[in-house]
Amino acid sequence: MSSRFIPYGHHSLGADDIQAVLEVLKSDWLTQGPMVQKFEEAFAAYCGARYAVAVSSGTAALHLAALAAGFTPGDEVITSPITFVASANCVAYVGARPVFADIDSQTGCIDVREISRRLTPATKGIIPVHFAGQPCAMGAVAVLAREHGLTMIEDAAHALGSSYLVDGEEFRTGCCAHSDMTVFSLHPVKHIAAGEGGVITTNDENLYQQLCLLRSHGITRDVGRMEANDGPWYYEMQALGFNYRITDFQCALALSQLKKLDAFVARRRAIATKYRQAFESNPSLGLLAEHPDARSSYHLFVILSLGLDRSGLFRDLRERNIGVNVHYIPVHLQPFYRENYGYRAGDYPLAEEYYRHAITIPLYPAMSDNDVDLVIEAVYRCVKALSS
Ligand SMILES: *Cc1c(COP(=O)(O)O)cnc(C)c1O
Repeated sequence: MSSRFIPYGHHSLGADDIQAVLEVLKSDWLTQGPMVQKFEEAFAAYCGARYAVAVSSGTAALHLAALAAGFTPGDEVITSPITFVASANCVAYVGARPVFADIDSQTGCIDVREISRRLTPATKGIIPVHFAGQPCAMGAVAVLAREHGLTMIEDAAHALGSSYLVDGEEFRTGCCAHSDMTVFSLHPVKHIAAGEGGVITTNDENLYQQLCLLRSHGITRDVGRMEANDGPWYYEMQALGFNYRITDFQCALALSQLKKLDAFVARRRAIATKYRQAFESNPSLGLLAEHPDARSSYHLFVILSLGLDRSGLFRDLRERNIGVNVHYIPVHLQPFYRENYGYRAGDYPLAEEYYRHAITIPLYPAMSDNDVDLVIEAVYRCVKALSS
């Protein structure tokens, strides 16, 4: 048994990260200062997008993206039921209707045929989720979005550092070659940590300007964008925005972490490969497939209990100090979604079936090879005990 608890995810902070934050703490800037722009430029360059806007959380990033997309009451926006609630909540924030499209059981990502089935004249947008770090079928979703004039916001909170192929050409997630905006989270359990934080990438200058405006109360001091100019003190509030700013010391941390992102992703992929080799021929376990057109950055590693009691397996792994979790309870089954939008059990059978079997096992770059072996050993033992 593992003598200490191995969580399902954990950040990796080094002395270099701590030093980067200390330097900002000793400077004149605490809230939005020069590190924000530096981080945004580095992040946009990493993703291959023209612009990046850093905000206070991934949820705030989704909210601003939904506003900038122009979703309003009466509109419908489609997302996956297997995601964190924030992917759908951003649609509710702007008064539009969150609609779900069932998943592809092979990958856990939204199924493009299911999106087609849910289209109505009111559909205005799609928010595909790159589940567990694997980009969804971007080529097919982009074609659908273009054909129906839909705004596409990728929820890439799981997928920083991933990439996908369209017609044989490789694209890094967040480059926005096939979407209007891509949203990321800088929560410590995700690929890089800022404490709390989020980023939106885009190639559209108009969206970029709106996102910047909405991040800070809808206020601008840009003389070229104001209707009047009463003097050097003058500013204008041009839209109903928020205080969704991120701080300079958070961006110093995120920038320092970004330099190590490729190494983090490589380690995540190596651990995932070990898990695959250990579990793929076990008849009691199922795994999500990595599609040939997707290169996952493995935020999560999910195992599916086949013919075993999932709750029993979960309980036994926790008893062995393995920090298993479940991602996710289908969003349409949450009381808020049932009560306000009339969703019911049975509406999205593949998502519900997935949920009955899924268990997330530990995966993060700082796991040692010994930790990985402990997890594999614990899964073997628990599966064996439950099968006999
Ligand atoms: C974490 C997460 C978010 C929200 O990010 P926060 O930074 O925690 O607000 C949104 N969507 C998905 C899929 C997530 O996993």
